[in-house]
Amino acid sequence: MRRPPRRIPLPVQLAAVGLLLAGSVLALGVTVASVVRREGRRLSAERDLAIAGDRLGARGVAALAEVPNWPGTLGPAQWAEIGRRLKAASTATLADFRGVEGGYFALEGRRFLGSAFPTRRPGPAARHDGGPPPLEYDLVETQVDASIRKAQPTFLVANVPPSLVALRTAPVALEGRRLGATWTMTRLVNPIDQDRARRGYALAAGLATLGIGSAVVLTSGLVRSLSRLGVERARLQAELRRGERLAALGKLVAGVAHEVRNPLAGIRAIAQLWRRGLGRDDEALGHLTDEVDRLEAIVSRLLQFSRAEAPERAPADLDAVVAEAARLAASTAEPNVTFTLDLDGHLPAVPMAPASIVQVLRNLTANAAQAMPGGGVVRLSTRREPGGWGVSVVVADTGPGLAPGVVEHLFEPFFTTRPEGTGLGLAIAREIALAHRGDLTAANLPGGGAAFTLTLPVADPGDR
Ligand code: ADP
Repeated sequence: MRRPPRRIPLPVQLAAVGLLLAGSVLALGVTVASVVRREGRRLSAERDLAIAGDRLGARGVAALAEVPNWPGTLGPAQWAEIGRRLKAASTATLADFRGVEGGYFALEGRRFLGSAFPTRRPGPAARHDGGPPPLEYDLVETQVDASIRKAQPTFLVANVPPSLVALRTAPVALEGRRLGATWTMTRLVNPIDQDRARRGYALAAGLATLGIGSAVVLTSGLVRSLSRLGVERARLQAELRRGERLAALGKLVAGVAHEVRNPLAGIRAIAQLWRRGLGRDDEALGHLTDEVDRLEAIVSRLLQFSRAEAPERAPADLDAVVAEAARLAASTAEPNVTFTLDLDGHLPAVPMAPASIVQVLRNLTANAAQAMPGGGVVRLSTRREPGGWGVSVVVADTGPGLAPGVVEHLFEPFFTTRPEGTGLGLAIAREIALAHRGDLTAANLPGGGAAFTLTLPVADPGDR
């Protein structure tokens, strides 16, 4: 038997989809939040740079205004004092800004008397212990020089590996005399952070894509499971309806059979009395008792069928049963219908209730004959099933075959396409086949006509 494929239970599939989606959304959320945070930091750093630069300049001027003996000649003592004051102003100003480095360059004669300030920003690229930033020194000096010469602030974004820096310089002048310049600087991108962030984003995006991809795959599996469940449910409901109809039919048949049985017994008793009373073996009365016996047998079978009991079975030769059924069919069929036999001849005995199998075959042969009002051939053949697990008999006709839309309803009780039909023949035949643990199937033949196959197992699976 083919094993059904192992399926992941529905709640597990649902939980997996939920988890994957939640994980993906979380990964995306974290990525977006971190991008937003970075962008926010970058924007506020640029804003701080401008504000810090302006404030540094204003404070520097205010600090210089208090220098004694100003604006007389500036000796080394005065320059030292200017340097001290600018430094104090810078330190006080930069303390308010996170991520902004800065300081001043004082101009003594034509050379810089420079000093820079430690920033609040930690990290190897930013550490310069009170001196000018080691890596960006030349850039700062050039820009400060430009600012002093042009007597206006400059703004520059430059790549000074390993940093991308935004640099703002502004001249410091008092009463028209240029004394130096301030500089403020922000590192827009820290390559170490950037690399880490890029790896983080790639990982998060990869995880999110993977999660969403898996969720899509699982969801499609889920949809398939649900549609399978729907199909299964529809099938079970149809089965249930069929079961209910069969149960109702069973009750009806049982009631009718019960009612018919007593009058039959009465008829039989009266016929026998008449035969005895007449004192001779009247052929007509003998025939009557035979017919009553046949009716009684049919009623018993109907009762058996309605009670859904397995008929009493014993090993028998299917070939013989088929031959008997063909003989009976031929005796009642129209002369334009021919019955042919193609028997295996070496079939093993299989457990069966021969009378029930004859009933099945008679239903099939009657249907075949009815399908061919203009005449035709009904062929009954037997064979051993490949593998030897059972035997089968095929009833094939040369009629029009099974009409489209009929095949799926063939075995339903009361399904008929004939005005005078009851739609019970095939339903009963199938029930008998199933009660034998066998099967009854139908198909159209490639060359035209219908074929019904009754299969019976050599031994009951339960007996083995
Ligand atoms: P009934 O014979 O009372 O109609 P059945 O259950 O025996 O009920 O058959 C149901 C239907 O199956 C028939 O009405 C007919 O449409 C179809 N059928 C059965 N046997 C054949 C056949 N050999 N060829 C074509 N159609 C068939």
